[in-house]
Amino acid sequence: MTAASNTAEILKHPELEDASNDQVIKKTSYRKYWDEHLETMPRAELERNQLRDLKEITAFAYEHSPYYRRTFDAAGVKPSDIRTLSDIQKFPFINKQTERETQGKGSMLGELCCVPEEDVVFISTSSGSTGVPTISPFTAQDFKEFQETESRWFWQVGMRPNSRYLHALNFSLYVGGPDVIGAQNLGALSIWGGTLPSERLLWVLKTYQPTHIWTSPSYAWQLGEKALKQGIDPKKDLAINTIIVAGEPGGSIQATREAIENLWGAKVYDFYGLSDIFGACAAMCEARDGLHIAENHILVETVDPKTGAVLPPGSVGELVFTTLRKHARPLIRFRSGDIGSIDYTPCKCGRTSGRIRVLGRKDEMFIVSAVNVFPSDVEAVVRSLHGITGEYLIRIFDSDFTSHYAVEVEKSQGNPATDEQVAAEVSKHLKARLGVKPAQVIVHPDGGLNTRSEHKSKRVIDERKHSLL
Ligand SMILES: [Zn+2]
Repeated sequence: MTAASNTAEILKHPELEDASNDQVIKKTSYRKYWDEHLETMPRAELERNQLRDLKEITAFAYEHSPYYRRTFDAAGVKPSDIRTLSDIQKFPFINKQTERETQGKGSMLGELCCVPEEDVVFISTSSGSTGVPTISPFTAQDFKEFQETESRWFWQVGMRPNSRYLHALNFSLYVGGPDVIGAQNLGALSIWGGTLPSERLLWVLKTYQPTHIWTSPSYAWQLGEKALKQGIDPKKDLAINTIIVAGEPGGSIQATREAIENLWGAKVYDFYGLSDIFGACAAMCEARDGLHIAENHILVETVDPKTGAVLPPGSVGELVFTTLRKHARPLIRFRSGDIGSIDYTPCKCGRTSGRIRVLGRKDEMFIVSAVNVFPSDVEAVVRSLHGITGEYLIRIFDSDFTSHYAVEVEKSQGNPATDEQVAAEVSKHLKARLGVKPAQVIVHPDGGLNTRSEHKSKRVIDERKHSLL
């Protein structure tokens, strides 16, 4: 056994104490929650706090943002109208388009910003993948609370001061970059990996033996495969025991999680972030049944994506967020474009915050034979089948005035089945899960799909002339 793999083995099993190895994790008992009072308070108390902060932030927004003042006045509502949490429903929505149209107006930070620029210490910007990038400003206090929330999520997935954390997310402009500070504030040894090329990242993994890593699900998969090709077995030679993923739906798809877990010998936890709010606004706990949302910062509503009508908890709809404590740019009823649901039933872990389940982006949903389909449904099927690599591409197209979908997959090396047999198998399972058959399944050889990327993979090609949503 090499020195590196010896260390890896011990770090994966902290209960094994080996005095002969100076890199061994000391057996230390830590508290269960990062902030027990905040995380386990009765819901009545949590909601009282939300109401207090909602009154304060809407009044602050009305007073300091020309946009909010104008639109609240136009809708005939005032912050003083808020008596209960559901009174938020009287207020107008905003969305990504509102952010775009108001930024640069009056000042660089725009009409939604509620503080003078001298009080702003940090801005992140969105990727601009769906239009002009939008700015998200933070005051010093906003930034501090952002990092406190990130520390809480890291603690929730088992990170402790004796952990080693590799932050493998983009640092440039991206809101997920600074989350590494949350890990550092928690006391973990933090390695600012960023988007290093995979060769270099594997060197970091081998040399420094981190126990926790955060990256995208597709990249976690690709990195593990690359390691194997180089003769590094992530299970034996690396110490990673926890993989945090975000940015793609994979972390909430059990088949994808299991595939990554089997490759790495580590547990996968899904985080959910928005460039408009925090790097991570919600995170899985050990129960991995939905993502706890930071309700002390965010009030959640679910609405009908077409009409905007508010839906009862548990219903699937568009998630709408109101930030309760961000003063640089409060978001009042921000339509996220994400389709999902919120669950307020008690979680096994003892935390009392609601849990969200995100199905996908509203603009990625497509309708085939009156059935709503998300790319994540296709992924769940493709990742659960043997004999294919798990890589996939979805093509949505119009024909005969209706939408169809085709799926492209890769046959694993050594799979003796013919391409026709693989296509028939994939088609059968897609029909069983989605209720509608794909128009076509195209089978490529291993490595034949150009979907492997160093960051976020593009897996849906929409060739429709008119979106049905
Ligand atoms: Zn929980």
